[in-house]
Amino acid sequence: SASDNALLVISHPDDECLFFAPTILALLEKKAKILSASDNALLVISHPDDECLFFAPTILALLEKKVTVHVVCLSSGNYYGQGEKRILEFHSSCLKLGLQHSNVHCLTKFHDGPNRTWSSEEISEVLLEYLSKSKSKVLLTFDESGISGHPNHIAVNSAVKFMMKRTLSASFTPFVLETVPIVRKYLQIFDIIPTIIFLNQSQVVVLSSFADYFKAVSAMQCHRTQLVWFRWLIVAFSRNMLINTWSTVE
Ligand SMILES: [Zn+2]
Repeated sequence: SASDNALLVISHPDDECLFFAPTILALLEKKAKILSASDNALLVISHPDDECLFFAPTILALLEKKVTVHVVCLSSGNYYGQGEKRILEFHSSCLKLGLQHSNVHCLTKFHDGPNRTWSSEEISEVLLEYLSKSKSKVLLTFDESGISGHPNHIAVNSAVKFMMKRTLSASFTPFVLETVPIVRKYLQIFDIIPTIIFLNQSQVVVLSSFADYFKAVSAMQCHRTQLVWFRWLIVAFSRNMLINTWSTVE
């Protein structure tokens, strides 16, 4: 039960990783507010395919726990003029992940690109609108490093902080996805060891099963315009396709 604390007793340093890691993670997941079935959750991403490449473990875990998940993608990913195709790919990918069509929104208001500046005020207006429409108490998005460092990802984090400063009594809890150091990014499932070692008490880890990982890969295959060779390498080796670490916003 989420209200109980648990004490794990082991005999040797490393027993916690070698034998007990799945249980530790399952208990931490249970305790986390992020996985409460009574709350709706709003995931805000910047580009079609972010939902697969970075957030799939969490989307699948939340859906499994019967949480209603809404996704808003702020741009159509039209940088190379493929926006219309990418919107369709995004909807197909979300359906593959198990999201309801009516809970998935791709906006064309923001133009993507590393040199585009997205206004925190404009993003926060969109976020407030969708938080209200979706009746979500949990808002999920990128952290201040944006996982891949893309300015459009970081802009969403800045907008959340902007909202937190402006709204005195926020009616939602924001969670941001942790960007891990580059040396850990492509360790795939093996990143679970540094994840446990460096986990702090306020963080939440979501770990995918291999079945969920293959579901995420299958959803990624809907993003046909994006499947150039190096993105396959990301799909194959990225820890974010299997592990998500969440923090709350200070
Ligand atoms: Zn992106």
